[in-house]
Amino acid sequence: MVKVVKFGGSSLASAEQFKKVADIIHAEDSRRFVVPSAPGKRFSADTKVTDMLYTCYDVAAKGKDFDDKFNEIKKRYYEIIEGLGLDISLEKDFEAIKAGFIGKAGRDFAASRGEFLNGKVLAAYLGYEFIDAAEVIHFNDNGTFDAALTDTAMKERLNGIERAVIPGFYGVMPNDTIKTFSRGGSDITGSIVAAAVSADLYENWTDVSGFLIADPRIIDDPAPIRTITYKELRELSYMGATVLHEDAIFPVRKVGIPINIKNTNAPEDPGTMIVESTSQKPEFTITGIAGKKGFTVINIEKELMNAELGFGRKVLEVFEKNEINFEHMPSGIDTMSVIVSQAEFEPKEQEVLAGLHRNVKPDVIDIETDLALIAVVGRAMKSNRGTAGRIFAALAHSNVNVKMIDQGSSELNIIIGVSEAEFAPALKAIYDIFVTAKL
Ligand code: ASP
Repeated sequence: MVKVVKFGGSSLASAEQFKKVADIIHAEDSRRFVVPSAPGKRFSADTKVTDMLYTCYDVAAKGKDFDDKFNEIKKRYYEIIEGLGLDISLEKDFEAIKAGFIGKAGRDFAASRGEFLNGKVLAAYLGYEFIDAAEVIHFNDNGTFDAALTDTAMKERLNGIERAVIPGFYGVMPNDTIKTFSRGGSDITGSIVAAAVSADLYENWTDVSGFLIADPRIIDDPAPIRTITYKELRELSYMGATVLHEDAIFPVRKVGIPINIKNTNAPEDPGTMIVESTSQKPEFTITGIAGKKGFTVINIEKELMNAELGFGRKVLEVFEKNEINFEHMPSGIDTMSVIVSQAEFEPKEQEVLAGLHRNVKPDVIDIETDLALIAVVGRAMKSNRGTAGRIFAALAHSNVNVKMIDQGSSELNIIIGVSEAEFAPALKAIYDIFVTAKL
């Protein structure tokens, strides 16, 4: 049995947290490959080391004095090292990092040092080999992840190695510069390592006991999700559930390795299992609800639109040319609505309108902003009659006006558009009907 274990920033924020992590790793012999994040927040007003590094680098890149900020970062590591009673020095590394800052090695380089240093400390503490992610995680020239090269390099490097610490979040470009994934990207590294070593399980340790059915900032004490499929998770994380980086599922999913989200501060909790498929019946009809604000709807009307061949394509072409992703496209006989992110649309609004007039000569174009989208997700919806009926009855009872409905053909999710002001009441209404009332 081989497990890859990834620990997030709050799990490695202090010496005390490091001790919990070591206990977890030592509790099972199978926990052989460890992927750490940089030290995160120790308390809610604290700053993550990654953010400290970005800020410090920005000061350095302007040619200003960055000593104070740099020393703050050093302090974070030395506090951990001392707290663990370790006999190691990172002075040489700090010197090299400083030189990199002065030589403008880039923001990615700067941010990556958080994981690099934390990996070194953790490896020393565990007595595991340290493997620099720059040896094994590769990016292409254009900055995209190079899966093939990474897989070969990782397999080769890890061959014959019993136990190792591989820092998360970054890798190397063909020209040897350091490149990071997007924020939270250590989750992706963990997944890549798990796939490369054909792990039995990818454990992702964080500070919550897995996914919750709904956002706890909106719903009081929501129930946990014990088991979720990759597909359900993809829907939920796309819509804002943020426990795991959304790209982290691809490497393990391809090779059928499950992910277990676990809580470093409550290791006995079962957490959430993320699996390809399962025969386990979910406790409720819905697996989860998530949502996002900040959408705009562009409603296009044209008489006899239905008879015009290529209408939809011509509409979408305008969005494509302006590099705007479309989220949904509900349509009527003579109307078509395109739902896009407000932030993407706003700066190019007039270009899009002009493009639509040129391309499809609509009768009316009408724009509605401040829309929220809610995804109600559940593999059990397929076999349960009346799910949509219950959702809309609950929304009607709560006086929520539904502006858009979209059910995927997989019957895995129902997407509902409501005004941003009605976002929280809508989530509450849906949660209550399925979870509190168990209907
Ligand atoms: N340390 C990085 C961040 O704060 C990456 C990670 O923690 O996964 O985004």
